[in-house]
Amino acid sequence: MQPHIQIRNLNVFYNRDQQALKNVNLEIPHNQITVIMGPSGCGKTTLLKSMNRFLELTDGSQISGQVLIDGEDIYATGMDVTEIRKKAGLLAQHPYPLPMSIFDNVAFGLRIHQMKKGRHLEYAVQHYLEAAGLWTEVKDRLHQPATRLSIGQQQRLCLARGLAVEPEILLADEATSALDPISAQHIEERLVDLKKEYTVVLVTHILRQAKRLADYVIFMYLGEVVECGPAIQVFDHPQQERTRAYLEGRF
Ligand code: ADP
Ligand code: MG
Repeated sequence: MQPHIQIRNLNVFYNRDQQALKNVNLEIPHNQITVIMGPSGCGKTTLLKSMNRFLELTDGSQISGQVLIDGEDIYATGMDVTEIRKKAGLLAQHPYPLPMSIFDNVAFGLRIHQMKKGRHLEYAVQHYLEAAGLWTEVKDRLHQPATRLSIGQQQRLCLARGLAVEPEILLADEATSALDPISAQHIEERLVDLKKEYTVVLVTHILRQAKRLADYVIFMYLGEVVECGPAIQVFDHPQQERTRAYLEGRF
């Protein structure tokens, strides 16, 4: 089976001379959790944002190489950026609920598909709140402002809104690091569940989280992919000395 995402000779610079990614080549499988791990500043966020063309929203960023989703280069001329970002949704480190009700936050995602008011919309909002593990906590106050939710609930709401856009790929950038341990666990459990339907790419600098969640691992250091492969292989039999050092906490 063709990998869901393929990256070829990817180089990224900030402000002309600061190289954040150095000739990255890798493949990300379908319906697994791929974890991008590595110390702070090694290029994890940059790599993640290259996968839905969020990178070009950063002034001074320059990108070369290829990112293929289902074999199609998302940077090719004529590609529809909105479609690409629908296909690969991003869950950020801090939840940003829209200044509207819980219901409307999820409906906002759905309206991208021109789903109008009515019973159908209500069912769909419930469906995505359930998928994000939030439904039972909010079903009696759907029309309250989303900002009244706890941070952990807000993050699950952002997940529900993201799922409502009907992506194929979920990109999560340190998506639990602003949360308390219980809320973080909620998100982790959702991601494990969601990989049945989505390809999940998770950035983390927490090694224990990587070990809990990863099916496939990409270890980065100073803008380079040092090693990648199935989690069991990378964690139990790392091939590179730098990977061994990182896994043993020698960084
Ligand atoms: P990570 O997510 O692993 O912490 P990043 O991808 O955020 O790493 O950053 C990789 C490198 O690129 C770092 O050296 C960082 O300082 C630099 N960088 C990130 N964003 C910018 C930016 N907007 N402008 C300039 N340099 C940046
Ligand atoms: Mg980062």
